[in-house]
Amino acid sequence: MKLGDFEVYPLLENVFHLDGGTMFGVVPKILWSRLVPADENNLITMHLNLLLVKTGDANVLIDAGLGDSLNDKMRKIYGQRGSSNLESELAKHGLKPDDIGDVVFTHLHADHCTGAIKLDADGEKVLRFPRAKHYVQKQEWEDATHPNERTAATYLTDNLIVLQETGTLETIDGDVEITKGIRVWKTGGHTPGHQAIIVESRGQILICPADIIPMSAHLKAPYIAGVDLNPLETMERKKEIIQRCVNDGWLLAFDHDLEVKICKLGKTEDKIEVKKIV
Ligand SMILES: [Zn+2]
Repeated sequence: MKLGDFEVYPLLENVFHLDGGTMFGVVPKILWSRLVPADENNLITMHLNLLLVKTGDANVLIDAGLGDSLNDKMRKIYGQRGSSNLESELAKHGLKPDDIGDVVFTHLHADHCTGAIKLDADGEKVLRFPRAKHYVQKQEWEDATHPNERTAATYLTDNLIVLQETGTLETIDGDVEITKGIRVWKTGGHTPGHQAIIVESRGQILICPADIIPMSAHLKAPYIAGVDLNPLETMERKKEIIQRCVNDGWLLAFDHDLEVKICKLGKTEDKIEVKKIV
């Protein structure tokens, strides 16, 4: 779709499955399962939606998905049953991984960044986007490379280190512009170094809040994943983002929704209305 002078496309990198309770925190299953059905193992199906932004000067990828470099144990943890669609999804837009100049990570949980790494013919970990710079908040990098007992299962440090060793990592601090029309907003909440990405061209604005609002089922204030390290901060950021979308017409992209990739939000009485665009 067009966003001002830019082109913006959601890419379906992969499908994965996680425990439904993990994704909805304190909300009882009887409520969340009406919105998102769970299987007999309590797993819910989610999409890994990346966002490709073609600005005319640059091809920018927001997040990189799971990729194909996970070992069997990690594939099981993330419920990854198929392989990455990234190359075929890029090809739909006339691009190859070499054409990506900037990769912006919302945060470094494995389902958002492992796709930036692939295995070469010898099984060595190498860059999947060899010409790209990889941007992440400095705080997120520090936390991901020094995980604690609670966060260790969500960060794959071995993979991340490849970014540093190849000199393609750019750590950023706070709210900065990555390239003309693409800026980040350090939200915290999900992780202390989590950031939302804001894309703007000719006054049209799209926000990618990533795991602050991963699916349309998370629009209600208390519907916050159990893994969030600062859930009250997630809730505050979520309310600010929804207000911007409702009042200022910002478009909203969901990183894990199955049906709605990009939408507009409206409000009737107390209910938020999702108007699907893509
Ligand atoms: Zn996450």
